[in-house]
Order: sequence, then C-alpha cells, then structure tokens
Amino acid sequence: MNKKTSVGEVLNYHVIPPVFLVFFTAATQILAQVGNPEKSFQLEYLVGNCFAWKCIGSLFAWAMIWLLVPSKKFNGPTTAFGLTPVYKANGELYYFASLGTLILIAGLKPKICVAIYENMGAILGGLNVVALSLCLFLLVRAKLKAKEDDPYLKENKYPILHEFYRGMELHPRLLGVDVKQLTNCRMGMIMWQLLIVIYLIAGWELHGFDAGHLVNVLLQTIYIYKFFRWETGYFNTLDITLDRAGYYLCWGCLVWIPAFYTFHSYFFVYHRPGVSIVGAVTLFILGLTSIWFNYDVDRQKELFRTAQKGKTVKIWGENAQAIEVSYKTADGQPRNSKLLISGWWGVARKINYTFELLAAFLWSVEAGFQYGVWPFLYFIFLTVLLIHRVFRDEEKCKTKYGRGWDTYCSKVPYRLLPYLL
Ligand code: NDP
Repeated sequence: MNKKTSVGEVLNYHVIPPVFLVFFTAATQILAQVGNPEKSFQLEYLVGNCFAWKCIGSLFAWAMIWLLVPSKKFNGPTTAFGLTPVYKANGELYYFASLGTLILIAGLKPKICVAIYENMGAILGGLNVVALSLCLFLLVRAKLKAKEDDPYLKENKYPILHEFYRGMELHPRLLGVDVKQLTNCRMGMIMWQLLIVIYLIAGWELHGFDAGHLVNVLLQTIYIYKFFRWETGYFNTLDITLDRAGYYLCWGCLVWIPAFYTFHSYFFVYHRPGVSIVGAVTLFILGLTSIWFNYDVDRQKELFRTAQKGKTVKIWGENAQAIEVSYKTADGQPRNSKLLISGWWGVARKINYTFELLAAFLWSVEAGFQYGVWPFLYFIFLTVLLIHRVFRDEEKCKTKYGRGWDTYCSKVPYRLLPYLL
C-alpha cells in the first residue's frame, strides 16, 4: 500500500464517517435555530415532541400506503450479482395527491403551516431519531444476512462506522417496500416540496406576501415536480445503482433534505427577501430557463438511450451522433454501448450539472446578498457535491469503457462550460 493510498483510506474509512456523523447531525439543529431566531434550543429538539411525531407518523403512513397499494411496477437495473429491484411507478400521482392534500389541510386548518414552521426543531429531532434507528437496523440486518449473493456483504473488512455511514445493502426491502424508494423519493423529496409550500404559507400568515419568497418556492416546485414525473429514471442514477442504504443516503434523505435543501425557504419566512416585482419576475424567467435546460440535457440522453435499435434519433434537428464503446459485465460478458456527442452532450460532458447549479443559484438569490451566505448554503453545498460527483462518475466511466471513454473525452473536452471548465 503506498503512502497516498493509505492517507486516502484513513480519511475515507476512519475520519470521514465519525466527523460527518457528528457534524451533519448537529448542523441540522443549528440550521433550525439560525433560520428562526425567535426560537431557542429545547430538549425536544433532540427527540421530537408530540406534534412532531404526529407529523412524521402521518407522512410515513401516507408514503407507505402509496408504496403498498396495487399499481404499475418498474424494474430497476439488474445488479452485477443478479438482483433486479422492483419499484412502484406511481410517483407523479403521489406528488399531486400529496401537494393537493397539503393545500386542502392548510385551507381547513390555516394555522397548521405556522405550527409546522415553529416546530421545525422538534420535527428534525424526530426525523433524526427515525433515520439513525433505520440506519442502525439496516446495518445489523445486513450483518446477519452475510450469506446473500452481494459480495460486499461478505467482505467484512471495513470499520463498523464506515459501514454504518456508507450502508451495506444496495436494494434493501422493509415492510414490503424498497427502502431507498421510501426514504429518497417518498419521504425526502416530498418533504422538500411540502415544507417549502408550508414555509411560503407560514411567511405569508406571519409577515404578509413576498414576491421573492413566492419565486423561490415556485422554481423549486417546478424542479421537484420534474423529479416525480421522471421518478423511474431516478432508479438508473448513481444514488440507486452505486450508493448503499446507510447514513449517507437514508439519513441524507430523511433529515438532510428537509433541513438543508429547504433551508433558504425556511430562512425567508423570518428574513424576507423584499425583491421588487420586476426583479422577482426576471429571476423566475431565468430560473425556469435553467430548469428547462437541465431537463432537456437529461431528456436528450434518455431519448437516445431508450430509442429502439436501428431507429434514428433527431437532436436539435439532426441525426444524433455517437461514439461506439464496449465494456464487460461483472461476469465477464462483452457488451456494446454508445456515448452521445450530439446536442448538449457534444457541448460539455456534464452541462446538466451546470444548469442544475444555475437553477439553484437563481432560487437562492431572491434576497440578494443582504443576509450574507445563509440563503446560498444549498447552492454552495450542491457545487461541492456535483463537482465531487463529476469526478466519481468519470472514474466509473473510465473504468467501464477504458479507451472508448478517452475517445469521448477528446471529442467533448470540457466538463461544465465550453472553453472554460
Ligand atoms: P448523468 O445524467 O450525467 O449520468 C451519468 C451517466 O450517464 C454516466 O455514468 C454514463 O452511464 C452515462 N453517460 C455519460 N456520458 C454519456 C453520453 N455522452 N451519452 C450517453 N450516456 C452517457 O448524471 P447523474 O445521474 O448524476 O444526474 C442526473 C440528473 O440529476 C442531472 O440533471 C443532475 O443535475 C441531477 N442531480 C441532482 C442532484 C441534487 O442533489 N440536486 C445530485 C445529483 C444529480 P452509463 O454507464 O449508462 O454509460
């Protein structure tokens, strides 16, 4: 083992898990305090209160019902060890039913949004308890299931905290549902949507209408709707095919998304953006364009990859061009694939991330820079996350396609911005 590898290993296996566990878990509570300075820390912020548990229990039951009711199924990509995960394909309906139910409840009980906003510290405390218990349960269960085909479960060579942090099983199921679909999509992503609407209504109730807050919520709403419309496509992404169900992913979706991804909307309840109507409309148009471009990049790849063999796909009015690449499956079988070099995919290799970042900036900047860095926390975090992901994905593609990937990189030399990055 060389010196570089051993430093990387110490960081990866021994330092990052405990540091991240303590830092990020505590950070959620600090955010709840910063966003709402009228509230001070209470013990219930660690374990939740009666109101918080009612909210968490109701959402969990609601999510479970939608994953258990008979509906169309979707088979995810088969793993290297031959497991095909099965998901429920009712995401769009779930999205509209959830948002509609929230609006109905808010109409019948107008004070509920302010109550949720004011109890956010306790709700995050309860969510922390749920998420950490779930991760612990998944770890213990995976240890007991070591006889399964997944080679990672048999390896048993990593420190236990690393296993807790990274997760063990790739596609665990619990109470008849896929754990990642439950935590990532049906709890995490829907909490993002419901909470920002709750904060918008709470801000309006407490301090009056604010156009900047409305634009902040509208842009995210369009972005989140796009996720649910395309939920089955999400089952082909790295979160599902590479990341295991542990603290990083499950805690991330159950606590980090509702605490952090929504933070600017929460922050704007007390710290009003106060942008003019013209400014708000401009930000909305720019934000909408970025979200559309981000969607269009993903759509072009989806269109190209799902086209029937022999059928020509048109992109930007011309026949799509691609590079032929080959790879071997885990059991050594040779396979062919294609890497698109037309449309957005010929402009830069990760231009979808560029538009994603632009959209996030545009739904954070409604208050300008008057409140410092706070409204931009998500944007900064996403920048780091996506840059890290660029390299993670490139490493995956280089390992998979070898020289074919190098050829693609020489044809499309830029990652995020043509001629710059
Ligand atoms: P991509 O959609 O870029 O997918 C990467 C994969 O696509 C590669 O591993 C490779 O897989 C394939 N690929 C790469 N280049 C090409 C090409 N030229 N032609 C065809 N296939 C190619 O990345 P993500 O899955 O990370 O992102 C999907 C969406 O999710 C994006 O819009 C992104 O912005 C968003 N996102 C949002 C996050 C958030 O927290 N808000 C976090 C992460 C992503 P293969 O093995 O199939 O060849």
